Amino acid sequence: MNGLSVAGAGRIDSSAGLNQESEPIPSSRHSILSRKIAVHPMKQPTLLCVVAHPDDETFGAAGILIHAIAAGMKAVTICATRGEAGEIMERSNATPETLAAVRELEYRRAGQIMGVSESILLDYRDSGMPGTPENEDSAAFINQSREQVIDDIARVMDSVRPEIVLTAEPGGGYGHPDHIFASQCAIAAFERARENESNSGWAPQKLYYFTFPRSQMRKFFDEMKRSDPESGLAQLDPDEFGTPDEEITLTLDVSPHIDQIQEAFAAHLSQLSPLERVSDELSNEFIGQASLVRVFPEPDASSFEQDILDGLG
Ligand SMILES: [Zn+2]
Repeated sequence: MNGLSVAGAGRIDSSAGLNQESEPIPSSRHSILSRKIAVHPMKQPTLLCVVAHPDDETFGAAGILIHAIAAGMKAVTICATRGEAGEIMERSNATPETLAAVRELEYRRAGQIMGVSESILLDYRDSGMPGTPENEDSAAFINQSREQVIDDIARVMDSVRPEIVLTAEPGGGYGHPDHIFASQCAIAAFERARENESNSGWAPQKLYYFTFPRSQMRKFFDEMKRSDPESGLAQLDPDEFGTPDEEITLTLDVSPHIDQIQEAFAAHLSQLSPLERVSDELSNEFIGQASLVRVFPEPDASSFEQDILDGLG
């Protein structure tokens, strides 16, 4: 269950495969390049986003991906599962039997809308929400060997050589075990690539979490309490979601991309987007701003970033 399937997303020449930008640099130039500059001058800076389910890359990181692509980066996504344990919206003609295939298509379509170069799927099974029978399935993502998943991610990393790695915050947004596991494995693959730099001559430069500020999550739950006080969502504690505002290290204004972000959200037709639950005003506030936590290099007061591309090349 560790085969890779590459969902070519329009912009890439599939005959070129995954290795098109990773031709080895002669070793005599390695040390000079990796010490003095972060990005090979001939290489398009690349962002690799690692998530668990189709829609996580969109609902969690569409603004960041579109922003990075608009700024000249190449973006690649890895999704660990096809999200086959998800609920199905009535408007979709998916069935429990077809949901995996439908969500794979939705993932590819959203990637195309965002301008993602490669939408890669790992062949794991969605583990479902905590406490559901899907958790026990031997094929479930959370029941796979951590080393195997890290190997899968590392293989893609070695191939696309991203300067930036992006994944879900360690709490997985709302505690979904697949989100947490995907995030942990992405972090481990990032660390391994850093440790291997002397052998490989290459290492990713920055690691970020995508997240939402807790102040926004409070607004979300306040609206839930007003509009649907009996719903399960209205009963949840906002302080268990998102990231305390003061821990967010970078906020991007992605409001110029709101239409494109909404189009990508709409590609996940079989799923209920969080934006569908709230007013247009709050929806635009949510998607018009992207929030990140830089994990590596650890931020300090003297290296205040303005943009995700800061420090590259
Ligand atoms: Zn998810």
